[in-house]
Amino acid sequence: MKGSVFTFTLQHKQVLFLSIFILLVFAFLPKAEASVYGDQTLSVGSRGAAVSVLQNDLTRQGFNTYGVDGIFDQNTHNAVENFQRAKGIQVDGIVGSQTKSALQEEVAKSIALRASLRYSDQTLSIGSRGEAVSALQDDLTRQGFNTYGVDGIFGQNTHNAVENFQRAKGIQADGIVGPQTKLALQEEVAKSNAYRASLTYNANTNNNTNTTVSRGSRTDIHRYPHLSKVNGEFGQFRYRSLQGGRIEIDPVWVQENIVTITLPGLNRQVQVHKNAAPNFIHAFTLIKKGTANINGREVPLLSLIETMDGTWVPRHVMWNPSRGLSNHSWGTAIDINAAGNLRYVCPTNEPNHPNLILWEKAFKPAGFSWGNRFNDAMHYEIIR
Ligand SMILES: [Zn+2]
Repeated sequence: MKGSVFTFTLQHKQVLFLSIFILLVFAFLPKAEASVYGDQTLSVGSRGAAVSVLQNDLTRQGFNTYGVDGIFDQNTHNAVENFQRAKGIQVDGIVGSQTKSALQEEVAKSIALRASLRYSDQTLSIGSRGEAVSALQDDLTRQGFNTYGVDGIFGQNTHNAVENFQRAKGIQADGIVGPQTKLALQEEVAKSNAYRASLTYNANTNNNTNTTVSRGSRTDIHRYPHLSKVNGEFGQFRYRSLQGGRIEIDPVWVQENIVTITLPGLNRQVQVHKNAAPNFIHAFTLIKKGTANINGREVPLLSLIETMDGTWVPRHVMWNPSRGLSNHSWGTAIDINAAGNLRYVCPTNEPNHPNLILWEKAFKPAGFSWGNRFNDAMHYEIIR
């Protein structure tokens, strides 16, 4: 029958396309991604952001945990068992390295499948039209690459947004959306889903929601026309845009929230959010006193810091006005040894990397999260 030949051809094409995508996924995704569920084995009783990410991924793969709350309960246990059964892994409901990598593999495959389904198998460029273009515009805009409208018509604005995205991802910037760009964009979408999931636990465990937005009569809303997101307990502010991706925050909010502290050890004065100040003091007290054993030598933690940037820097992500606001704007983040560390540090391959050691010995115990999971190893941040 003509119909079945046609169907076969389509499926064949789809399979071929998918295979290319999957190969690309494995070429791109750092092995690193295994650590999105943390380094610890997870089982009933585990809690935290890693559990939220696990629950999010299981549920999206069809193994319902009945909630993403960062608490590994019986429902999560059952979902893990069902997943293990489906993958032919020992069924014990305990998430060790084998289960983690099996789940990451499924996630990678679904990213590839989604890229192919959502943006079609066609190359998209100026003049393209249709649902695939709308999906592309929607995803680009949500990732901070504004297409100035979601209308299903690939015009100059969409072309520019694609180029900006490609540039940010280190892909050849030609404004043409082929397999590599599609995959990279779906990876970003997946990362932001995981990031949102990781925040659930923190949001649930923090009842302190007295956010400090400056709405008072002293705030000049004409001078500061934009309103930031709510960054957990660190609040929300009004701001205006400056040159070079910088912003100016309503001084009323700044006066109420940003304080100057001296970092122990470094003896440097920095500005941070008043609620994050104890965490900064704690981290640098540990750094001042601590040592690490590197190749048999006891080394002061302080000597592992070459440069320190941040802390409070009102600006957009990557200084890019088309991106969202950086959490540095709230004074809750710090960048250590920035040069060469806008990347993922692999704990297995680089056990002596200064930023890994500083994370384990100082920032983690002081309540920071590490930007390494988002391929930003220089960045430590308080999220709550
Ligand atoms: Zn940073």
